[in-house]
Amino acid sequence: MDFPVEELKKFALQCGFTHAGELDLKALVFMPEVREMCRAARCRAYGKNWRCPPACGSIEEAAARAAKYSFGMLVQTVGRTEDDFDYETMEKAGKEHAASFVKMMRELKKKYPDILGMGAGTCARCNPCTYPDAPCRFPEDSYSSMEAYGLWVSKVCELSGIPYYYGPNTITYTSCYLLK
Ligand code: SF4
Repeated sequence: MDFPVEELKKFALQCGFTHAGELDLKALVFMPEVREMCRAARCRAYGKNWRCPPACGSIEEAAARAAKYSFGMLVQTVGRTEDDFDYETMEKAGKEHAASFVKMMRELKKKYPDILGMGAGTCARCNPCTYPDAPCRFPEDSYSSMEAYGLWVSKVCELSGIPYYYGPNTITYTSCYLLK
């Protein structure tokens, strides 16, 4: 199946992302080390969210699932910060990225129902997450992050020929969609 790369890139920008490009599927290397970083990460969501490890599935399951796809898109939101402590802009860019991600996901699903989306950061749709006491409230409309799947995001970008770092005073959020 041929995928309309330029059309998809344009659509990503229309959805609110600042950058988009084709993901090289060979860059999808699922690493247990990233999972370990998840466990130690500052977000403290490990073991507390349906979309984070270990609830989101094993590295092997992630790799097997991704292997069924034949095309990928990387999408990014780059925020311009005043300095390293401009948390307001960082948070705003993160929220904008999450909103763009859901918007594009919902639209792409209409044409590619088996789409696999991997977002940036923990699913924060409910506060708190129902894990582990009750099922996810939005199983069809919530997503794991690329890191939760075990992907080293900067490496995926680099191997796909897409920048991950846009210079001093920038913050970049990166997500991806896999299509078949
Ligand atoms: S949608 Fe709500 S219940 Fe489901 S993973 Fe996200 S925060 Fe948890």
